[in-house]
Amino acid sequence: MANLPAEPEFEQAYNELVSTLENSSLFEKYPEYRTALKVVSIPERIIQFRVTWEDDKGNLQVNRGYRVQFNSALGPFKGGLRFHPTVNLSILKFLGFEQIFKNALTGLNMGGGKGGADFDPKGKSDNEIRRFCDAFMRRLCQHIGAETDVPAGDIGVGGREVAFLFGTYRRERNKWEGVLTGKGMDWGGSLIRPEATGYGLVYYVEHMIKHAGQGDFKGKRVAISGSGNVAQYAALKCIELGATVVSLSDSTGALVAEGDASFTPEHVNEIADIKLARKPLTAFSGGKGAFKYIEGARPWVHVGKVDVALPSATQNELNKEEAEALVQSGARFVAEGSNMGCTLDAIEVFEAARREKGADAIWYAPGKASNCGGVAVSGLEMAQNSQRITWTREEVDERLKGIMQDAFESALHTAKEYVPAKEGELPSLVAGSNIAGFVKVVRAM
Ligand code: GLU
Repeated sequence: MANLPAEPEFEQAYNELVSTLENSSLFEKYPEYRTALKVVSIPERIIQFRVTWEDDKGNLQVNRGYRVQFNSALGPFKGGLRFHPTVNLSILKFLGFEQIFKNALTGLNMGGGKGGADFDPKGKSDNEIRRFCDAFMRRLCQHIGAETDVPAGDIGVGGREVAFLFGTYRRERNKWEGVLTGKGMDWGGSLIRPEATGYGLVYYVEHMIKHAGQGDFKGKRVAISGSGNVAQYAALKCIELGATVVSLSDSTGALVAEGDASFTPEHVNEIADIKLARKPLTAFSGGKGAFKYIEGARPWVHVGKVDVALPSATQNELNKEEAEALVQSGARFVAEGSNMGCTLDAIEVFEAARREKGADAIWYAPGKASNCGGVAVSGLEMAQNSQRITWTREEVDERLKGIMQDAFESALHTAKEYVPAKEGELPSLVAGSNIAGFVKVVRAM
């Protein structure tokens, strides 16, 4: 494809999927699926647009906006919007591609898509954010709809941004419909949606721990990266289940617990407030002396021995050396709260250790399976909007638990069918999830 521009992140996500399909018996059994792979790797449609908006000083600002409508075989395009200065087409294509198979693994009827802008919310006032969201949605609103394409949040887009975007959609299109998920509870949102990705991640890992015969979260040491929505609720759920959380981080550095210290729910709530105010983790004042702040660092080589590692910040946030350090220190479970949190060679380190270390094996779960709880509850929000009703917290949480269990079990069964493991070896969740998601989408296509 020499005539196409390089798209490193998309190529990484594509190669990760293809390498697991190639190393299985899938294409032997279904040679025609090779053609399907070619088809599924090209987005159905990409919308690119210019977003002009006015800052607080009255100056004109301009950004690039996108929506990648990747695949609608299973339902309306579905996936978040990312507002971050690094956003480009390669990143949104990787995220949209992952989203197709992630959404398939939820078992709900959702296609895959992703969008966003190279807008940097850091340092912007609430009014600037509102004006940007309004300008962005005025451009996008003709291309989306409750039965066509349903965006949601991602990095840089939370409840406040979804609210601004939804208001503009309603005004511009003159209708109320479930066109966005992650809405506020007073205007069509679902209970548990803010918590869903983090909670779902922990529910998924609970199944891994149990299947590997290692009990449950009680007493486990957990390293988490990130401090946004996913990391916060993953940390709170781990603490609730009796684990100790020993790290959190942001793009400026990592907070790592010293000695016997660990994060309490109060610490996590303070960090949530800091992040809502778009401030760095250096503003954290809780637990003085109990944590060290390591500037510019990620937690993995600084946390000592942990049982569970949950990368929950952004793509490629855990590399080969960090994976080796985790394996050497005796970590047993790694599951991504972020999308493509681990580099390809980090995944190879984990997969090799899974195959070679027998009873001490480390077990890795890819984000498209372990973080599918967020988009799953988005799917439940769509269902509630269609029925014009609101389910209780307990109802949503139960369904989320069921979806995470199904995603885990379908990876196990699919791995057994297409990449049989040796006696006593844990099955590959990355191969199982990739093949299960791919087969479902291909059959729908
Ligand atoms: N951004 C989230 C994800 O990566 C959620 C998407 C959604 O709810 O549509 O899965």
